Amino acid sequence: MDCIFCKIANKEIPSQLVFENEYVAAFRDLAPQAPVHILAVPKVHIGSMNEINEENSHLVAEIFKAINKIVEAEGIKDSGYRVISNCGKDGCQSVQHLHFHILGGKKLSESLT
Ligand code: AMP
Repeated sequence: MDCIFCKIANKEIPSQLVFENEYVAAFRDLAPQAPVHILAVPKVHIGSMNEINEENSHLVAEIFKAINKIVEAEGIKDSGYRVISNCGKDGCQSVQHLHFHILGGKKLSESLT
């Protein structure tokens, strides 16, 4: 499958990896929108939140456990941060592999839209 985040997770293309384990890879966003902008993805291909189901939802728990470690390592656990997953056309999802943006390191906009 020609999926850029699968290729990053498989180390077929380079990234600034900040965390990985059996289930999760997390790497810095190419176009950061905050001082800390990291993407956390499942290593297996899941297209979007629409494809989360009984069989793969444990991977979402793994991602959030990883996020806990990442925000601690990045020094933003106490100052706060935001986790966003865009889904579909109206959600402006541009990469069709489930990913969670971790944003922090500054006071973020109060607006979510
Ligand atoms: P979304 O618009 O929610 O699908 O987010 C996709 C994100 O992936 C954007 O913030 C891009 O900047 C980021 N991105 C795309 N390609 C790469 C890449 N090769 N390495 C790191 N981040 C990427």
